This record gives sequence, structure tokens and C-alpha cells, in this order.
Amino acid sequence: MFWTGELIAKTAPVRRRAVPAYAPHVDRGMAAYLGLAIGDALGATVEFLTPNEIRHQIGLHCDITGGGWLRLKAGKVTDDTTMSLALGESIIAKGRVDALAAAEAFDAWMRAKPVDIGNTVRRNLIAFRQTGNPEAPASEHDAGNGAAMRVLPVALACYGQPEKTTIFANRAQAHVTHHNALSDAACETLIFMVQDFLAGRDPVDVERQRAGKLVSDFPVFAYDKRLRENPSGFVVDTMQAVLQSFFATETFEDCLIDVVNRGGDADTTGAIAGMLAGARYGMDSIPKRWSNALDASIRAQCPAQALELLAPQVS
Ligand code: MN
Ligand code: MN
Repeated sequence: MFWTGELIAKTAPVRRRAVPAYAPHVDRGMAAYLGLAIGDALGATVEFLTPNEIRHQIGLHCDITGGGWLRLKAGKVTDDTTMSLALGESIIAKGRVDALAAAEAFDAWMRAKPVDIGNTVRRNLIAFRQTGNPEAPASEHDAGNGAAMRVLPVALACYGQPEKTTIFANRAQAHVTHHNALSDAACETLIFMVQDFLAGRDPVDVERQRAGKLVSDFPVFAYDKRLRENPSGFVVDTMQAVLQSFFATETFEDCLIDVVNRGGDADTTGAIAGMLAGARYGMDSIPKRWSNALDASIRAQCPAQALELLAPQVS
């Protein structure tokens, strides 16, 4: 029986490389960040197309293939992910959310010539360069989705903090570019939803409490009236598409496919829906074909930053 050892070695199950087991809220936080990037990369292909154009040009858009009006390489992300990463780095460096540090981080991000940048973001960052004031003037016109798309680092850094602290922290970063009540309401709703899912709360309760409060405070956000297709960059359009998709589906994959095939500002609806879906369903729910298709550096940076932001010393 001299060969027994060899036989056992060949037939024993291959041991997986040791994967550290994360606490559930950490797993969900990492999945939220990966989901943000995946939704951004998936949606960018069909940004500014209508649902009809998507059907005719692609059929059902369900793979990360790059292209789109930005002519991205497959797996590349846009401002939604890269502004979030810039904000997250500033939070980690300061140990808290700081308006001036966030403004400087966004300004450095803009100088590095990002692939895309929203008009409101550009205008208010140029104003920051001129005035040094990290808070943009309040404007009823600055109700784009550019602050809402980058809230994830705040949700992670403020996890476990009182709601008032979290709202204050978010407004510090959001008002650098979007000083607007509708934007604030959307940002805060998204942050609390992410934190609720990190804590494992039931989606029915989350919808009633968080989305319900958004709609009762600002009825314009009501999202059950008609199917929101072709959502613009107006934060109300964006939130309606995201909330409809998110609460009408039961998997990470279905949620993202539903929302990006509505076209419009699809990289941003994809990013926000991916963030919520990652937080709700966790790392195991993310299709491997999507995480493997994502740019390797982004695939590494996003969960790593989530881990750092969830470390207790950051708030
Ligand atoms: Mn974008
Ligand atoms: Mn966009």
C-alpha cells in the first residue's frame, strides 16, 4: 500500500485559500462598495440611452462590456465610484468627515481629469478654488444626484453613530457641491438605508421607515405612481428609479439589471442601486462574472476602503 499517501493527496478536496471571515456588517459594507462600482461599470455602457435604444442595440444589458458614450474599457468605472473613493480617503486621513478635506479631495480628483464630471460638481469646485469656502451657496437648482452618488463612505464611517452626527457629517461633504434640500434628503435616506442593511434589518421595515419618511417629507419623491424609465440626473428621478428597482426585486443581480435597463443616468442609478443591493444581500450575492469583469484596481480598492472606514476609530 505504498501509494496510499499519494492517492489521498490527489483525491483529497482541494483546500481553498484561507479567506478571513468578516463580521456580517463588514461583509455587507464591502459588498456595498463593490456593488457601487459594479453598478457604475455596468450602467456606464447604457448611460443616456432610452430603454428602447438599449433593447434595439443590445437586447437585455446584463454584462460589463464597457463602451457607451464615454468609450470605457470593460470594467472601468466613472465619477460615481472615483469621487466616493476620493471622499473615503479624505475621511480616513482626517479620522472624520471634514468639509475642507472633502473639498480638497474633490478638487484634487478634478485636477486628475476624471472620465466624467457633473456640471454642478465642476461649477462648485471651481468656486471653491476661488473662494476657499468648502460650502457651496444654497441653490434650489443644484438638485442633481452628484452628492447622493458618493455617500457610501459617510454611511460606513458613521455606522453606529447617532443620526444627528451622521446628518451633520453628510452635509459637510454634500454641500461642497450640492447645497440643496432634495439632495440632502436623498443622501440621508440612502445613508440610513445602507446602515440599516449593514445591521441586518428587514427590507419591509427599511422601506416603510426610510423611503416612507423621504416621501412624507418630500412628496415629490413618491415612487409608486408610474414606472420611472430614462431617469435623468435630477436626484428625484434617480431615487424613484432606484427605489422602484430595489424594492421590486429580490436579488443583487435582478436589481442591477432592472435599473440599468431603464437607461438615462444609468451609471449613477446602477451605482446607487448596487450600493443598496450589496448592503442588503452581501458578498456572496454578487455574481462572479461581474466582480471578475471589474477593473482589478477598483475591485481591490473598494472593499479595502470599506474595511478601513468601518474600523471603529473613524467617524
Ligand atoms: Mn458617472
Ligand atoms: Mn451618471
